[in-house]
Amino acid sequence: MISLRLLGCNGGIGGSHRQTTCYLLGESTIIDSGTGLTILDLPELAVIDHVVLTHAHFDHIACLPLLIDSAAALRNEPIKVWGLSEVIEILETHIFNDLIWPDFTKIPTESAPFMVLGSISEHLEIAGMTFTPLPARHGIPACGYLVEKDGQSIAFSGDTEDCPLFWESVSLNGTVQAVIIECSYPSTMSELAKISMHMDVPTVASRINELPINVTAVIVHRKPGWESLIEAELRERLPNRELVFPEPGDELTFG
Ligand SMILES: [Zn+2]
Ligand SMILES: [Zn+2]
Repeated sequence: MISLRLLGCNGGIGGSHRQTTCYLLGESTIIDSGTGLTILDLPELAVIDHVVLTHAHFDHIACLPLLIDSAAALRNEPIKVWGLSEVIEILETHIFNDLIWPDFTKIPTESAPFMVLGSISEHLEIAGMTFTPLPARHGIPACGYLVEKDGQSIAFSGDTEDCPLFWESVSLNGTVQAVIIECSYPSTMSELAKISMHMDVPTVASRINELPINVTAVIVHRKPGWESLIEAELRERLPNRELVFPEPGDELTFG
């Protein structure tokens, strides 16, 4: 069984929708570290062993520097941060560069640091789960993930425009229970979706329509102010599908 707690699944901040992307798998692994991470209290933060990143956009890494600073000194082991090699390079160059934030791969010492950065190429085994990067198209180094456990799996699109290779991977894999899909914009904002390399309602609806009926579609990353319209449009286009529009903090289990 895979347990998923959507600490953050909003596409921005504002009002009650202020928790950007951060998904807790089990108790000690998160995908992305947006402002959703602030839902956790300090003891919960201190047991996070692994942070697996889809990409380095700010809404997905905003709380990573703060996590290391707040929780690492309470632990005996470094916090391990994983991503595509290009994503890790971006963190080294632009975030943990001793200008924006300290280089915690050398603090307190190089031999026993607070943080370790690691690249994922094909597969990564974490806490009984296998993480496999999936293709994404977002204009910068980015990926989704397939997370497998006990013969079942869930797929995360990450931030992406329509990416045929992602959907191909999902449909070829017979173990997928759910797809966590970004849908940033309603149909009235297709132009902005295109420019920003995100998906809009028409794209997401047609892709969900092609999924086997037993695969649950979980819609995330709706941009602030457009949440209700996106939900209404998707429900209208997909009357026979079970769609999940989670709120931050919601827990889902699969398998
Ligand atoms: Zn992004
Ligand atoms: Zn994003």
